Amino acid sequence: MAPKNEWADKDYYADLGVSKTATEAEIKKAYRKLARENHPDSHPGDKAAEERFKKIAEAYDVVGDEAKRKEYDEFRSMIASGGFRGFGQNGGSGFPGGFRTSGGESFEFDLGDLFGNRSGSGGGHAQEGGFGDIFGGIFNRGGNNRGPSRPQRGADVETDITLEFREAAKGTTIPIQLTGDAPCTTCHGSGSKSGKSSQCSYCKGTGFTSENRGAFAFSAPCTHCGGTGKLITDPCDDCRGTGTVRRSRSITVRIPVGVIDGQKVRLAGQGEAGPNGAPAGDLFVNVHVNPDPVFTRNGDDLEVTVPVSFAEAALGDTISVPTLDGPVRLKIPAGTPNGRVLRVRGRGVPKRGGSAGDLLVKVSVEVPKNLDAAATTALRTYAQAEKDAGFNPRASWAGNTN
Ligand SMILES: [Zn+2]
Ligand SMILES: [Zn+2]
Repeated sequence: MAPKNEWADKDYYADLGVSKTATEAEIKKAYRKLARENHPDSHPGDKAAEERFKKIAEAYDVVGDEAKRKEYDEFRSMIASGGFRGFGQNGGSGFPGGFRTSGGESFEFDLGDLFGNRSGSGGGHAQEGGFGDIFGGIFNRGGNNRGPSRPQRGADVETDITLEFREAAKGTTIPIQLTGDAPCTTCHGSGSKSGKSSQCSYCKGTGFTSENRGAFAFSAPCTHCGGTGKLITDPCDDCRGTGTVRRSRSITVRIPVGVIDGQKVRLAGQGEAGPNGAPAGDLFVNVHVNPDPVFTRNGDDLEVTVPVSFAEAALGDTISVPTLDGPVRLKIPAGTPNGRVLRVRGRGVPKRGGSAGDLLVKVSVEVPKNLDAAATTALRTYAQAEKDAGFNPRASWAGNTN
């Protein structure tokens, strides 16, 4: 729990988004909602979410407990009335032996204590069972790990790939070459030749060391065992006891259908191996997509512009148009104007569920630049016939000057 000399700076009610007069049930409800929303498992690698999560947990630890809440309320009203003048305003500590930093920031409190004590200390707490799943994950990340059985996970890895437009639209599997920490094959990631380890004598196996300063005690991860609580007695020669070696590895990455340029694909557990057999980090693949000479994308729809002759547009015809899966026949209705968009259902970009967007075919009427004698003669005959039939392309045009 955060020490009381920090209470002056903390508004736990605001942190939980509840009023100072909120009931126990309201506080619990608000806490649960926020804890779920900000749980680190849902925001891997997101430090801000982790900080929010800690803040919420800290707030609930106090105002979620009837006795502590009362104490907190009294403390805060005392400050408000000037009883603790100077405290919390000078940036320094108001207590001898206190430990607020010069910036007024709090030190990292120990989440392990926060949750660990609660389940064990029994009555008077609002905490119930079933929360282990929410809190369980947090100990595996960051530098604030706690407990010998919860080593850090491996580092997240980020890499870039470039796909062709059609590969990206249809999904693909591609090999990626990565260099990074991988489990040592000699010791199977344990870091130990025989698999034996001894309890860390500095932290007595807890993974944490505590320090007393004035009236308060606080703890930090043990630097001798890296917070694992164990010391390897016979380190593996190949990895010097770390359990990981630097290695170049090739993995095959499945890129889902429909990825777009700039998208980031997360592959859980494909990052670097964790130390001493800890879970691997995640792999983030930044996808770049090359443009296609024929298709452009508009969401799940695929767009293509198809040149047609005047005769095809005027008389109608059936032409061949490309799709991602080879050509299809498309009927151009008689009298199709330049620029009309024809829709071919289900021939666009595949969607996750198995369906697909549409292919949008834009008709572009092409005018021939050079005609041979026969075609020129035929076209002149046609032009006269068109006039005789009474067709004037500008008849209903607003800019008509005839
Ligand atoms: Zn090894
Ligand atoms: Zn230790």
